[in-house]
Amino acid sequence: MHSIVSPKKSLGQNFLRDERVVSQIADSVSLDTSCVVEIGPGEGVLTKKLAQKKVPVVAIELDDRLVSHLEKMFSSSFDVHIVSGNVLRVNISEVLSGLGYDPGRYVLVGNLPYYITSAIIRLFLESENQPQEMTIMVQKEVADRIVAKPGQMSLLSLSVQYFGFPETLFTVSKDSFSPIPKVDSSVVRISRIHRSLSLEKERLFFRVARVGFSARRKTLVNNLSTGFGLSREQIVQILLSLELPPTVRAQELTVSQWIYLSEHLSIISSN
Ligand code: SAM
Repeated sequence: MHSIVSPKKSLGQNFLRDERVVSQIADSVSLDTSCVVEIGPGEGVLTKKLAQKKVPVVAIELDDRLVSHLEKMFSSSFDVHIVSGNVLRVNISEVLSGLGYDPGRYVLVGNLPYYITSAIIRLFLESENQPQEMTIMVQKEVADRIVAKPGQMSLLSLSVQYFGFPETLFTVSKDSFSPIPKVDSSVVRISRIHRSLSLEKERLFFRVARVGFSARRKTLVNNLSTGFGLSREQIVQILLSLELPPTVRAQELTVSQWIYLSEHLSIISSN
């Protein structure tokens, strides 16, 4: 099947050609919501499958050529709204309220443009009106990093797992796309998205995490004592109360251990 437009590499345009994969993604989206927000609908294959589920769809597309195609394709579908714009600039709460949907109750779905995967994940997880759930196709390597367990954690996995519960649903071969990308993809679902801390504590949590992961080859104690101007002993004490050895590295901690750490660092540094 030919593409409707000549694909732009700069916009991450790798269109999904495998109908079974499209159905699998649409089937994994929770419909207990006010609407589904789709990022980068492209030629509208997933949009169409979602619309068949009788759930309202708000689809945000940057490429004007595809926006015209989508507007025609869904001109008689009352519940499909095509929004022309850059997903990183659109005010999603305003768009949803304007259309009569609850900006606090929506799910996010999309075969993401890979050049801005992390920015999109971050934007929606950190936003005031977070989605209830995200089902996204990302590069397999990124998916593996998102769902990593303690021992293999990174700033990316910690950030996502702080906000929700990610799981890889399935892997998709690069041959399922046109044009064929260099690597395989995975569909990841992040469910039960929430905030565990107040905004102020959350800011400190991420500061501690960024400093903790700053020099990967160094121990956590070294990174934190340098970053916060605290003595090694003060940090070792907190780690010991978590039953962690002074030699522990950032990638070994769980989300709750990071939360404990950031709360105790705030107590020491405010004394
Ligand atoms: N959903 C379609 C599919 O599965 O075949 C297309 C997926 S393609 C990987 C990514 C889509 O995101 C393209 O249609 C591209 O034009 C669009 N896109 C790229 N950057 C965007 C941005 N900043 N905001 C909104 N859409 C964007």
